[in-house]
Amino acid sequence: MNASVKKDARPPASLSVDFDNKWAYLRAAGRQDWESASSYLPMAAERMVSLLGELELPVTVFVVGRDLGCERDTEAIDSFKTLESVEFANHSMNHLPWMHTMDREEIFAEIAGTHQAIASSLGVQPRGFRGPGFSCPEEVLRVLAKLDYAYDASVFPTSVAPIARAVFLARTKLKGEQKEKAKQLYGGFAAMRNPNRPFCRTVEASRLWEIPVTVMPLTRTPIHFSYFLFLAGVSKLAAKSYLRSALRLCRWTGTTPSLLLHPPDVLGCEDDPDMAYFPGMKMPRAEKLKLVRWALQRYGRTFNVQTMIQQVRSLNAEAEACRTRMAPA
Ligand SMILES: [Zn+2]
Repeated sequence: MNASVKKDARPPASLSVDFDNKWAYLRAAGRQDWESASSYLPMAAERMVSLLGELELPVTVFVVGRDLGCERDTEAIDSFKTLESVEFANHSMNHLPWMHTMDREEIFAEIAGTHQAIASSLGVQPRGFRGPGFSCPEEVLRVLAKLDYAYDASVFPTSVAPIARAVFLARTKLKGEQKEKAKQLYGGFAAMRNPNRPFCRTVEASRLWEIPVTVMPLTRTPIHFSYFLFLAGVSKLAAKSYLRSALRLCRWTGTTPSLLLHPPDVLGCEDDPDMAYFPGMKMPRAEKLKLVRWALQRYGRTFNVQTMIQQVRSLNAEAEACRTRMAPA
């Protein structure tokens, strides 16, 4: 058999980046000056493109529409096109992590506005969406179906959602109405009832795949790279052993992992003092880049990593093959 058509022995997986800018983190922390924050997107894009290029990993970049209003940030996002395989997807216009409190018009504006901005600034039509703060109300799904999206990726089925939310609320300086809205962040205990593997939804006669952010099979603790780096801040040895076990467990349980990166995963403590409060931001740059390279390399060796839309195409092909097998002769 020709090597180029030989089936990859590694099971499939996907990789994405939530390309959140510093202003989004500062606003979530309740900082009044968030709107005047400098952007770290050019620095983060350069490091991510270099790392993913070196490791030959494809990626889906979830873009916040507001950043496409800035030429330098648009260039930074556009630079991901130098990778062999990249997909741009929708991460809302203003990265407000309380979409579950918005009315229909607001939700439509958040999603459709970014859809148009990506199409006009990057020249591609997004087919996937991830809600900020892993918020996924019914109305969001209806808008995605209307815009002919292929998938949503807003589910984070973790057991630590209530703890993560409690920590967020204890640390943020958000007040009043905004703090009230944030009380439903991460979906609470209900989040854990969601599957830890892709599933198909029917939304107003359309088919929409849900690709959850994978958590540890069985215990449902997070396993994405930001969490790995947070653990590595406590013990590198323990973090590496945790990630190795997580990937092994995904293989054993037939769970197709979908893991994500955030810009702070490639930024060290010397890069941005504004981010010092953020978990994992006490680590020096060189140390962090070495760890994230190790984790990504391990991911790429264990799994056949794809963009999320490639994963959806494989899921559709599998579903079609299954239908054909089940059809009466
Ligand atoms: Zn985000």
